[in-house]
Amino acid sequence: MKVLKFGGTSVGSAVRMKDVAKLICDGNQKIVVLSAMSGTTNSLVEISDYFYKSNTSGALERINVLEQKYNEVIEDLYSKIEYKTEAIKIIKTNFEYLRSFSKAVFTLFEEKAILAQGELLSTAMFELYLKEIGENCALLPALDYMRIDKNAEPDTAFIAENLDKVLNSIPDKMIYITQGYICRNFYGEIDNLQRGGSDYSASLIGAAIKASEIQIWTDIDGMHNNDPRFVEGTKPVPYLHFEEAAELAYFGAKILHPTCILPAKLNNIPVRLLNTMEPDAPGTLISMQSKKGTIQAVAAKDGITAIKIKSGRMLLAHGFLRKVFEIFESHHTSIDMITTSEVGVSVTIDNTKRLDEIVNSLKKLGTVTVESDMVIVCVVGDLPTENVGFQAKAVHALKEIPLRMISYGGSNYNVSFLINAEDKKKALNALSQGLFS
Ligand code: ADP
Ligand code: ASP
Ligand code: MG
Repeated sequence: MKVLKFGGTSVGSAVRMKDVAKLICDGNQKIVVLSAMSGTTNSLVEISDYFYKSNTSGALERINVLEQKYNEVIEDLYSKIEYKTEAIKIIKTNFEYLRSFSKAVFTLFEEKAILAQGELLSTAMFELYLKEIGENCALLPALDYMRIDKNAEPDTAFIAENLDKVLNSIPDKMIYITQGYICRNFYGEIDNLQRGGSDYSASLIGAAIKASEIQIWTDIDGMHNNDPRFVEGTKPVPYLHFEEAAELAYFGAKILHPTCILPAKLNNIPVRLLNTMEPDAPGTLISMQSKKGTIQAVAAKDGITAIKIKSGRMLLAHGFLRKVFEIFESHHTSIDMITTSEVGVSVTIDNTKRLDEIVNSLKKLGTVTVESDMVIVCVVGDLPTENVGFQAKAVHALKEIPLRMISYGGSNYNVSFLINAEDKKKALNALSQGLFS
């Protein structure tokens, strides 16, 4: 069985939902994972923010605007009156639920319950539409099987066991529809897999059912060789190795959630990136196969902070790096990039919640310098050391950009550069020019 995930834009209007229905109704059994309609999760974040600030009228105003949008979608999506009536009932219940938070104390728990409404709405509406057009379909409630553990990591054994149970309780359906992004946490409360997490849902589901393929349908024809939001003339990459795709996703290629490749890679399930607006385009196939001797793509990750620790005693003092890493570990902050020299070490982080505490502790080990507003630019491809010259090509392309850190050798698939945020667009364009033109 295949798992097909459709993102926010792909289900962003009545017309789009109808297009998705045409795409998936091909006589093959499948699981379809849906995101919230585009813009909905952002609106829900905004509504939560008003509730946090005890601005009930602000929240209610935004809820009304969002509800109006859904009422318009219903008008266009269903033809038969009984389906319209049923959809209006669903929408009403959801929006009454949203309004009910004006009376409650507002905490992270309530926020997560609000954020879950986008996927609950899109899947309920889509299931109803498939029923209207006579499809043999059923809804798989993600909150019944998708779970994260105490460390906010997916509980893969629980997911596999419970998804199997849910599937067995509604056998013989052609299309199973389920919510991306949402889950329960270790305590059974409603939670989520972080923004953009529907891709992760799809690959976790694919891994759980040992799917033959995971398809991520979005608004672009596959993984492009550079970020199309900053570079013109980017091109889709036909084939990527799991490792290459994972590096690109982690280092900022928004088309994939940072961690969504791992479950597919561990189970050797190919992932195909496809365009809902151009379904015949070949897109990108991510698998064990790699394209030898090529630089495949470039991505950039924003919001990076660099921390340099200089110590005269570093080289001779064994255990220095362990002490540095322990400080980051004790503050639950992961390191993205690292470079070392005889006198010091530089690392980067993207989570600055505990920066002050980290810097305080690091000062016991040496002189600490912090630079914020940095960007990691990552060049990905088949880059083992035998492929002489690839790294040099990337460095040469960036010859006019101040490079704060360079990292190569962590894998055979990437070389990364730390630069100032203001140079990001210039760097991405220079790399396209130097590597792909
Ligand atoms: P969805 O809502 O379907 O999950 P996203 O907005 O999360 O879609 O991801 C698709 C977007 O990712 C594209 O519209 C594109 O702007 C952006 N993007 C960034 N880098 C890349 C890349 N290297 N290749 C393709 N798309 C990219
Ligand atoms: N709806 C969620 C978001 O906007 C999850 C997703 O689209 O993947 O972040
Ligand atoms: Mg996405």
